[in-house]
Amino acid sequence: MQLSRPTTIDEALRLRAEHGEDCTVIAGGTAIMLMMRAGLLHPEHLLSLDRVPGLDRIDVEGDGVRMGARVPLLELERSTEARSVLPTLTSALALVANHRVRRQATVGGNVCEADYASDPPSILVTLGCRVRLVSVRGERWLPLEDFLLDYYTNAAEPDELVLDVVVPRPSPTAGTSYIKYVSRTSEDRPCVGVATYVDRDASGRCVDLRVAVAGATSTPFTLPDVTAAVRGKPMDGAAWREVGEAYREQIRPIDDIRGSAAYRKHVTGELVVRALEMASTAGTNGATRL
Ligand SMILES: Cc1cc2nc3c(=O)[nH]c(=O)nc-3n(C[C@H](O)[C@H](O)[C@H](O)COP(=O)(O)OP(=O)(O)OC[C@H]3O[C@@H](n4cnc5c(N)ncnc54)[C@H](O)[C@@H]3O)c2cc1C
Repeated sequence: MQLSRPTTIDEALRLRAEHGEDCTVIAGGTAIMLMMRAGLLHPEHLLSLDRVPGLDRIDVEGDGVRMGARVPLLELERSTEARSVLPTLTSALALVANHRVRRQATVGGNVCEADYASDPPSILVTLGCRVRLVSVRGERWLPLEDFLLDYYTNAAEPDELVLDVVVPRPSPTAGTSYIKYVSRTSEDRPCVGVATYVDRDASGRCVDLRVAVAGATSTPFTLPDVTAAVRGKPMDGAAWREVGEAYREQIRPIDDIRGSAAYRKHVTGELVVRALEMASTAGTNGATRL
């Protein structure tokens, strides 16, 4: 196995293009190293991003937050600037794995891993996150929901690297929430997680609503038609229950060690209602684990 540690973005992109399918990118290594140790992955060429400058920056700008692909989850969680704009995301990061994993795991690695049982992607989807993919051919931007294709599968071409993840500044009248339900241990990945974004006008009517479910389907589960249908209606208990019931009804969850499909269906409906209540109620925005 050959290991490269480029010191510029251009060099990293050149190596990525040169080795294509034979090249495995390593960021924090928390996912990759487990797969290599388990004998599931035998990379010919390991491309480490640890010496590429600029990928560990968090830039809070007027229109949102730009996170370099190699920002450790713990740095983002602790960033007071990022917290002031994206409090639900930063508080949810404290619910991911444990301190040691978060210190090592990166924002780019988390989204590129495309693990169905991951917390940040569903939250990022409700926040309107976009991913910047770069190669020697140029760059392109994808909404995170289009970047995540299937279990452990993303839309990056073999010569592309994810360099940034960008989240627009939420509306000043929006509330956000994330509820992570774990069924085994407190450090477990989500059995079901529900992220919401609720924007209301001065009369309490819904202006924008987004709900994404983590851990139950191959990629964050959303029902854009259901959430769009609530726009213009009062964002009250009746609306929360309407959306919760639609999610419970329409989701087709997986069966795995964290819960059966029937159990996840029930939990999804309940958590959607609770997460919408959290986001719609002053003082209860943020993330929590059940
Ligand atoms: C014990 C344990 C518990 C965990 N619990 C949770 C949990 O509760 N919730 C949760 O959400 N997650 C959890 N995780 C998963 C963890 O969040 C991920 O392993 C981590 O985010 C991956 O980031 P990384 O930087 O280590 O990725 P790496 O392992 O370095 O890479 C992951 C994948 O992304 C690719 N990649 C990385 N960076 C780039 C890039 N810039 N461009 C293109 N491709 C790239 C790699 O090639 C690889 O395929 C847990 C992990 C462990 C080990």
